[in-house]
Amino acid sequence: MKLFTPGPLNTSNEVRRAMNQDIGSRTGVLSKLTKDICYGLMDIAQCGSDYTCVLLQGSGTFAIEAMITSFISNQEAVLVVSNGLYGERIAQICVIHNIKHYVLKMNPLCAINLSTVENFLLQNKDIKYIVTVQFETAIGVLNDIDGLISIATNFGCRVLVDAMSSFAALPLNYYAESLVAVASSANKCLHGVPGISFVLIRRNIIAKCNNRRTLSLDLCEQWKEFELNEQWRFTPPTHVLMALKVAILELKKLGGQKARLKRYTTLANQLVTSFAEIGIFPVVEECYRAPIIITFELRNQLNINANYLIDKLFKMGLVLYPSKLSNNNTFRVGCIGEINESDIDMLVLSIKKVIS
Ligand SMILES: *Cc1c(COP(=O)(O)O)cnc(C)c1O
Repeated sequence: MKLFTPGPLNTSNEVRRAMNQDIGSRTGVLSKLTKDICYGLMDIAQCGSDYTCVLLQGSGTFAIEAMITSFISNQEAVLVVSNGLYGERIAQICVIHNIKHYVLKMNPLCAINLSTVENFLLQNKDIKYIVTVQFETAIGVLNDIDGLISIATNFGCRVLVDAMSSFAALPLNYYAESLVAVASSANKCLHGVPGISFVLIRRNIIAKCNNRRTLSLDLCEQWKEFELNEQWRFTPPTHVLMALKVAILELKKLGGQKARLKRYTTLANQLVTSFAEIGIFPVVEECYRAPIIITFELRNQLNINANYLIDKLFKMGLVLYPSKLSNNNTFRVGCIGEINESDIDMLVLSIKKVIS
């Protein structure tokens, strides 16, 4: 199967082969593996030693929920800046855990509007945290986190970022004073397999945090156990970790985040150019897109339904997802994971066949 999806994605043979052994969880081998992965992730981020990395079992949402519940206390107000599905998920987490929060809902087809955020902060002085998404994967919209961080700095707010579909591909300025925590997972731009997520967090914050809201998602306890005993508190996803280590090594060999972004850019350009030749165009303006996932529209003159197209392509071994735009004839195509130019050629050829 070729996965043109937001993840899980196609992985390399080496990454899959790495899982072909069993290791014990309470062993020195696993402690070293855990440490290597943490250093590897911090190296990819280029975040410096003010940060530490905490791994967590589970998909990306687990890390987001853990980050919010572990680092934000009940007394402090949060601003959730949302321009899509994943922003809404952050708000939902705040509701469930009774965290005092405001939600600023923005146009899902554009980047978050920074002057709206600024005005909102002027009017609500109790806000201490801003939580948002770097790349809104549901439609494929890139937010200006650097811009948001500089506003947050002016207001003395701390910023927590969902970088699920952007970590390892898009840069973030970890040295900016107000950025304090970033969450992501193994199975998107890192090209690992699903089952593990992580949070990069400033050491001075995790060393002081003390908000016990959940047992299994408590990043402070998870970190303490790694630091003091080099152990996971609960069963670690051993095979997933072995795969992630290889995926990190492969990214390093490629040249790190910049090289991966360059690779994705080449593939995304090929995708947009060849789709344009068959009359299929992106929905989001170029200035808000990133070479990760792109929503395309099937205009009326093509006379084809997106769900029908997705179904036909699936039978040819090509997996695309419907878009999250309601009442619109659109679909999403990802260009992340272990895919190459010939896979995109095959996708274009297959679409031509279905259309004709
Ligand atoms: C994938 C993704 C998540 C997490 O989704 P899971 O299904 O829990 O892995 C969160 N935020 C964004 C922006 C994502 O792309």
